[in-house]
Amino acid sequence: MQYFGCHLSASGGYRAMVKTAREIGADTFAFFTRNPRGSKAKQENPADAAEAMELLQQWQFGKLVAHGAYTMNLCTADPEARAFAASVLEDDLRRMAAIPGQYYNFHPGSHVGQGTETGIAQIADALKNALRHGYPVTVLLETMAGKGSEIGGNFRELQAIMDAVGRADVGVCLDTCHVYDGGYDIVNDLDGVLAEFDSVIGLDKLKALHVNDSKNPFSSHKDRHACLGDGSLGLETFRKIVQHPALQGRPLILETPNELPGYAKEIQLLRGFTNS
Ligand code: FE
Ligand code: FE
Ligand code: ZN
Repeated sequence: MQYFGCHLSASGGYRAMVKTAREIGADTFAFFTRNPRGSKAKQENPADAAEAMELLQQWQFGKLVAHGAYTMNLCTADPEARAFAASVLEDDLRRMAAIPGQYYNFHPGSHVGQGTETGIAQIADALKNALRHGYPVTVLLETMAGKGSEIGGNFRELQAIMDAVGRADVGVCLDTCHVYDGGYDIVNDLDGVLAEFDSVIGLDKLKALHVNDSKNPFSSHKDRHACLGDGSLGLETFRKIVQHPALQGRPLILETPNELPGYAKEIQLLRGFTNS
């Protein structure tokens, strides 16, 4: 079995998100830890977090998959901006301690011409620094489409970051749109892609999935999400993902262009695949 959910607005706090998730048939969800295109975080509310934790347990939710801000680039070239990004990561992980035991996923970063090796080293440095506190959260690196100078467009780069960090508590969130755009053919050879993931990183490190169709063709390195069945991946791919024995037990998060009713439908669609 898997857990199904979508991206929700964090504006009403944790408890409101858990309730909304439950209303649309979800048993996990994702949310931005702060303004996705800025750096401002919300005021902390420990009572809200504690109440949300109770509901998560009562309703047997899977792990939540928080998402770091898009603007947080841990391998940007300017040292001051890089230090700021690292401090945002550290603050995000500290905040995650209010809802212990969940996942925090983020885009590794774009090396903006510094080169892949330098980028990987800078991301690993920031991660090591943030993880040294031992906050109760597992950090997930997201597989990227390889747009521009993005790090994480292939499994080797993610493994290189994890190697450099040298800690067990770092995993991966596989985004279906991103990997297909990145040149991993999960439409025609899901087994082969998962075998490659297993040999490079290890499937035990695959902790969560973002389930998105793609507006662009295979290996386009574009990163434009489509609703399930409206893109180049197609519904059959999502059926295979839901039914794949190696992908059980994970939260599957929708980041498709939808409002809540559309998400409710897609969650129902995915659940339908579990026994068909
Ligand atoms: Fe993402
Ligand atoms: Fe994603
Ligand atoms: Zn994306």
